[in-house]
Parts: sequence; C-alpha cells; structure tokens
Amino acid sequence: MNIIVSIKQVPDTTEVRIDPETGTLVREGVPSIINPFDENAIEAALQLVEKHGGKVTVLTMGPPQAEQALREAIAMGADEGILVCDRAFAGSDTLATSYTLARAVRKIGDFDLILCGKQAFDGDTAQVGPGLAEHLGLPQVTYAIGLEVEGKKLQAKRLLEDRYEMVEARLPALVTVVKQINEPRHAGLRGVMKARKAEIVKWTAADLEADVTRCGLNGSPTNVLRVFAPSRHTKGERIEGEASEAAVELYEKLRTAQVL
Ligand SMILES: Cc1cc2nc3c(=O)[nH]c(=O)nc-3n(C[C@H](O)[C@H](O)[C@H](O)COP(=O)(O)OP(=O)(O)OC[C@H]3O[C@@H](n4cnc5c(N)ncnc54)[C@H](O)[C@@H]3O)c2cc1C
Repeated sequence: MNIIVSIKQVPDTTEVRIDPETGTLVREGVPSIINPFDENAIEAALQLVEKHGGKVTVLTMGPPQAEQALREAIAMGADEGILVCDRAFAGSDTLATSYTLARAVRKIGDFDLILCGKQAFDGDTAQVGPGLAEHLGLPQVTYAIGLEVEGKKLQAKRLLEDRYEMVEARLPALVTVVKQINEPRHAGLRGVMKARKAEIVKWTAADLEADVTRCGLNGSPTNVLRVFAPSRHTKGERIEGEASEAAVELYEKLRTAQVL
C-alpha cells in the first residue's frame, strides 16, 4: 500500500518565546523539528508498510529549510520526500494550506492512505488534516490511537475524551493520529546515510497547476491578528503562623478583597 504522510516543520516549542513588543514569535536561532504528532504518523505508516508492503512518501509545504524535516523522515525509514515550496504559498492559513497540499496529493496520484498528525504544535488548529480530506473528497478519521488495514478497508480506534470509538472506512482515506498510537523510532545510521543522499522532489505552484488565487495570502480568508502570552497572575501570599490565627487573617483578607 502507498501511504502519504503529511508533515509540518515547526519551531521546537520548548525554545519559542513571544516578543512582548511586537507580539510575534521569536524564531531567530530557534531549532526546527518535525511536528511531534507527525512523527507518530510516520511511525504508523512505516509499521503498515512493514506489514503490507508498499511505500511511504512524506510531503510538506514550507520554506526551503523544511527539506530538513523530509530528510529526517527518510532517515526514520520513509522512501521519498516531496517539498511543496513557492513564494505564492507564503501566508497560507489552514484553508490555503490544505488546498495546496491537496493539489500535491493529486499530483502524486497513486495512494491508499494519507496520515497526518492530530495537530501542529505551533498553529494548533487541527484543521489541515480534515481540510485536506475535504478537498480530496476522502473519508476521514481523526484522533486515531490504533490503525489496522485489511484489503480496501481500514479500522481505526479513536481516542475520545472519556471513551474509545471503533470506526471503519474504505480506502483511500485520511487519518489523523494522536501521540499515544505508538513510539516513533529513532533513525539508524543507515537511515541517516540514505537521507543525506536522498533526492528531495520540489514542486512549485506551477508544477501543481494550482489556482494561485486559492494559495498563500490570496487564498486565506483568515488572518492571525496578534499572538500573545497570557498575562502572569500576581504572586500568591503565604500566611504563616498558628492555623486558627492564619484562618482569621485569611478571612479578613478575603473580605477586604470582596471575595467573600
Ligand atoms: C487564522 C489563521 C491565519 C494564519 N495566517 C498565517 C499567516 O498569515 N502567515 C503564516 O505564515 N501562517 C499563518 N497561519 C498559520 C498557518 O495557517 C498554519 O501554519 C498552517 O495552515 C497549518 O495549520 P496548523 O499549524 O494549525 O496545522 P494543524 O491543522 O494543527 O496540523 C494538522 C496536521 O496537518 C499536517 N500539516 C499542517 N501543516 C502542514 C504543512 N505545511 N505541510 C504538510 N502538512 C501539514 C500535519 O500532519 C499536521 O500534524 C495562520 C493560521 C491560522 C489559523
């Protein structure tokens, strides 16, 4: 079976700060990683191909440096990487992103399954997977914690807040996966060597025969107005001393603050 894994390169969120002056993310000097949920999607794809045969294609839309994410995925075991990259794609919201990725999937053509992460660590919308399925007219299953394929059918176990749900869908389909589905493998030395030499396919808007009015800023009906960190709460106050006296003092403070 041929599986496409749609991956996003994101800034390592443990390192990201927000500039209090401009309200934008400080990206300078911040290392980039494969979106962690997408590593689970890659692992799920590799396991399915190990079981059923076929190949894993990793696909990303991003700036030229997103090529590195594709190489990391190839080092894990993916067979080939495609970078969708053009100035026309800059400023894409989730609608434009999923439209552009859908054009790339149509160009790939032969596939049985598309896997995505549940959501991206930076954008956090969880809209691109479902949007991609819609553009392609595919059945979609979100929040998969388990995945089995038999012939032209897939069975997925979905992780909901208080229960699991078993769903069946016909292939081709799109599935988004949660962290708990597996433990992504580390790249071995052979994988790293293969990734270094791998040829990354690069497609522009023209290659995709994409309608540029549906790409990038032109095709994005939404705009991020501001990104900001929540204001810090004032520091708590510790009341020391005997419990009975501390309780009276606490009562007085709460009354003064009109909490009681
Ligand atoms: C309202 C709004 C306006 C925005 N405006 C801008 C803007 O002006 N400029 C700008 O740079 N960004 C902008 N963004 C961010 C941009 O839309 C997102 O980075 C992008 O669309 C992906 O959305 P997400 O990060 O929420 O991914 P999610 O939907 O959370 O990602 C889910 C899954 O989709 C797949 N996926 C997501 N993105 C990609 C990708 N690029 N390639 C391959 N697979 C992918 C991955 O499998 C991922 O796990 C905006 C976002 C929003 C919500």
